[in-house]
Amino acid sequence: MTDVIQLLPDNVANQIAAGEVVQRPSSLVKELLENAIDAGATQIRLIVRDAGKTLVQVIDNGCGMSETDARMSFERHATSKIREAKDLFAINTMGFRGEALASIAAVAQVEMRTRRALDELGTRIVVESSSVKTHEPCQCPTGTSIAVKNLFFNVPARRNFLKSDPVEMRHVLDEFQRVAMANPDLFFSLHHNDQEIFHLPPGNLRQRVVKIFGEMVNKKLVPVQQETDILRISGFVGKPDYFKKARGEQLFFVNKRFIKSNYLHHAVVSAYEDLLPADAFPLYVLFLDIDPMRIDINVHPTKQEIKFDDEKLVYNYLKVSVRHALGSNNVTPTLDFEQEPAFQATPTKTPSLRPETGRPTSVGDYSRTRQDEDTRHAGNLQHWQSLYEGLDLIGKSGYTPDESAEETALPAEPPMNFEVRSSAENFSMDDDSGSFSKGQKEPYQIHGQYIVSHIKSGFLLIDQQAASERIRYERYLDALGSQPIATQKMLFPKTLELPAADALLLRDILDEVNRLGFEIAEFGGNAFVIHGTPADLSGVSEEALLEKVLAQYKENMELELGIQDNLARSMARNAAVRRGQNLTVPEMQDLIDQLFACAVPFSSPSGRSCFITFELAELQKRFGA
Ligand code: ADP
Ligand code: MG
Repeated sequence: MTDVIQLLPDNVANQIAAGEVVQRPSSLVKELLENAIDAGATQIRLIVRDAGKTLVQVIDNGCGMSETDARMSFERHATSKIREAKDLFAINTMGFRGEALASIAAVAQVEMRTRRALDELGTRIVVESSSVKTHEPCQCPTGTSIAVKNLFFNVPARRNFLKSDPVEMRHVLDEFQRVAMANPDLFFSLHHNDQEIFHLPPGNLRQRVVKIFGEMVNKKLVPVQQETDILRISGFVGKPDYFKKARGEQLFFVNKRFIKSNYLHHAVVSAYEDLLPADAFPLYVLFLDIDPMRIDINVHPTKQEIKFDDEKLVYNYLKVSVRHALGSNNVTPTLDFEQEPAFQATPTKTPSLRPETGRPTSVGDYSRTRQDEDTRHAGNLQHWQSLYEGLDLIGKSGYTPDESAEETALPAEPPMNFEVRSSAENFSMDDDSGSFSKGQKEPYQIHGQYIVSHIKSGFLLIDQQAASERIRYERYLDALGSQPIATQKMLFPKTLELPAADALLLRDILDEVNRLGFEIAEFGGNAFVIHGTPADLSGVSEEALLEKVLAQYKENMELELGIQDNLARSMARNAAVRRGQNLTVPEMQDLIDQLFACAVPFSSPSGRSCFITFELAELQKRFGA
């Protein structure tokens, strides 16, 4: 029998390797920007068309390449950055595998122009599907320009797999912001479809953070600076009164390389202790500098994960440093929960305290002094926590750290050991009244998060937050379709300066946002003017609401829901009655009636059950009756 094993041709091998390195346009952004930094550039321009699907170009003023190097750079495992295996353990450059350009050229059309300062003429090379189409001298400035066109033009299956432009652009922006954040001393700009989105002059880290996250974070930054023999931590964390309810402003860099780590995130969050509500994300931009011998960045080709030789030590050290920074900046006594307004479905008459922040929800209660509120806050938090011990803690949704020792896990089963059903079949409506609540025993609230409502065949346990989200979600879909929500005009319009990336997003969905009751107009640059807010949301901070809705919208983008569905979900999530919010009987009755007027009352838009039915017969059986 003849031999069957053959070596793959280079272009095929490259295409396979590309599967790992090049996943989407943002992968190109990352690789090209990192190459520019490794080349010692001080000015780096990124140009993107159609979210990077048709063009990603990076122009740098770095060292450039000789004619031979320019040609070599497209070969696999061709790199100027490491020479021997031992170099792998002392990597100080962003790239080192020497496979980015080869991979990119296997799945796109690449045009490179490059010139070293000492050369009179530069080199122009065009490569398509790994084959060199042009290789000629050219006139060009010192440095390198690499334009990657029509990503995956020769791999239709992968091209079709790309997500919509807004989603891909989101990834491009993320990648750009990470690199720009890690290198505040370099100039960066980003153009998308001929519009300049970022223009970042060189400066210090604080200036860069403010340029990227927006002017409003300037006063909220607490510097972190700690150094030991093996580890240096520097950067900024946000004051405890500045946080988001969704991820977005959290960045770790290890030796200037962006990394993701739930473990380190947990270290930072735990340093805030109870200064933050349970499901809040504080801002941080933290740099960990560590001897490259002590880490392994070779774990994954896209290099976002990292292994430390002593993780626990890094964890503890990080936690202590953040704690120290928060403490020495004396941010604890001046807590200000302005960012966390009480969103209410309807105004409530009973003064009540929300467990997340301890902030009173009724208007009458706002007259208390700041000091009064602070002490109440501390007292209440403890009070609530002791009540909830061992139960699903309020507002723990969203973040699950990989080391869950400190978290109270969600009970896998409902607190009581009944066989429960949440489906429609077993659900019988109360025929006498035709309504779930009126004329019946009053519903009541337990643990500030569930409503018990009698029905003929037993009782319903309603999750107030899930139910409220469902109600609002359907209302918002309606509003986006045919019935815009009324606007409450503001006496004094407010200008709002957004981070560039958020401004881009808001411009895209502004019409839809305004149908939900906002009245927001563009004001040039990244600024907007808010003239009015949804009339059905009383007493909200329009800025905070908008920020949270945008953050949620961004999180949802991966789901490719489309603008309307995503926006309705994001608004619903943030305008809904919260867990832990006390409700009056009429409010509960209202909620129940509205829930069952919904098209799909059974689950929240994100799929959580809105209620569970407990059958009397089942209970009786359980009790042996
Ligand atoms: P790596 O960055 O891992 O070395 P790449 O495939 O990204 O691998 O790049 C291959 C080589 O091409 C680099 O090692 C570098 O010598 C050269 N190169 C790539 N981009 C640039 C650039 N913008 N300026 C100068 N040299 C570059
Ligand atoms: Mg590289």
